Amino acid sequence: MNGKCLIIGCGGVASAAVHKCCQNSGVFKEIMIAARTKSKCDGLKAKLEGTTSAVIRTARVDADDIGELITLIGGFEPDVVLHLALPYQDLSIMEACLATKTHYVDTANYEPPDDAKFEYKWQWAYREKFEKAGITALLGSGFDPGVTGVFCAYAAKHYFDEIEYIDILDCNGGDHGYPFATNFNPEINIREVTAKGGYWENGEHIETEPMEIKREYDFEEVGVKDMYLIHHEELESLALNIKGVKRIRFFMTFGQSYLTHLKCLENVGMTSIKPIVYEGREIVPLQFLKAVLPDPASLGPRTKGKTNIGCIIRGKKDGKSLNYRVYNVCDHQECYKEVGSQAVSYTTGVPAMIGAMMIMTGVWNKAGVYNIEEFDPDPFMDALNKWGLPWKEDFNPKLAD
Ligand code: NDP
Repeated sequence: MNGKCLIIGCGGVASAAVHKCCQNSGVFKEIMIAARTKSKCDGLKAKLEGTTSAVIRTARVDADDIGELITLIGGFEPDVVLHLALPYQDLSIMEACLATKTHYVDTANYEPPDDAKFEYKWQWAYREKFEKAGITALLGSGFDPGVTGVFCAYAAKHYFDEIEYIDILDCNGGDHGYPFATNFNPEINIREVTAKGGYWENGEHIETEPMEIKREYDFEEVGVKDMYLIHHEELESLALNIKGVKRIRFFMTFGQSYLTHLKCLENVGMTSIKPIVYEGREIVPLQFLKAVLPDPASLGPRTKGKTNIGCIIRGKKDGKSLNYRVYNVCDHQECYKEVGSQAVSYTTGVPAMIGAMMIMTGVWNKAGVYNIEEFDPDPFMDALNKWGLPWKEDFNPKLAD
């Protein structure tokens, strides 16, 4: 390992991750930031140079193009590629990592651009190839998926003989002052929340209508919020990796203004991913909508309030029932002061840096394709406390219902 990391993407999440890598220059000695718009990467480099001993390089790359990726990776020879562009590029980047025998880390599972349906099957299909090549693909090293999987692995390792129920609660109590904006890439965000909901129970995926199931929860340091059951990618991997689990659900908070705008946009067809012809040119309504919405990376200075993301885990220890909650609270303005991003980018960028660090330092070291909960959670939990996402535990928590 030579301390080199190639970061693909230069949006909200990547910007937070690059800041954290620069703070951690003992591990990240050289960082290359690459996206299609090189000027953005150069801007980030200019902001950070002089504040870190890490050497920062930039490049232009279209990560849909495997050939371009192989040339870039071959020239830079990073220990790990940290993919913080979009889920559409997961497979092309994994292919390039295979061709160059380079470790791979991401924060979101693959979804085909023309079908709003995310699943791990495409990435899990690379298990044998990565194993044979002697390299690691660490899938889902953001907050959710990411830290939520580490929380579950930690609970399984230290507190439970048997985990029966997992509820993942994602609360964003922040206010950016816009009537409607998304906190991460608008296209990916809207595809996720307009899709059917769903949860995992007794070996089956149960489908629900979008926003059909609603609960209220009193979040520590945020207060009472409405939260809605949505389908989320870690349900699929946790169902496999947390042995014996009976039910896993994922809830996310949404404000009334967000939901009303979303419904209206949906009703008029603006969230559709089916191309239409406009003035002789084919456009995708959702991509057009993305272009008129605020850039999530620009929300940093305006967003006030806190996020609270964590898990409620119920099961048995020594034959007795045990309820356990583990969560992190993050303040939007504190994040902005530290790295110039709001908390949604920060809570994703920090675990992305930690995941890359786990691989680069060899603390996590096994060849193949793995979800984050398949590794020892302890060093990751320590790193969360050290690198800006401290967590809290409660052994008598309020339940989701
Ligand atoms: P942004 O839209 O802010 O940034 C996306 C970046 O990807 C841009 O810099 C864009 O630059 C780059 N990009 C897009 N297409 C390509 C391409 N073909 N080749 C190279 N670069 C490309 O998104 P966010 O930062 O908000 O989100 C980034 C990722 O993080 C997403 O995959 C999202 O799903 C994930 N995420 C995960 C979370 C978690 O907790 N696990 C939470 C939040 C987000 P350019 O257009 O110049 O190429």
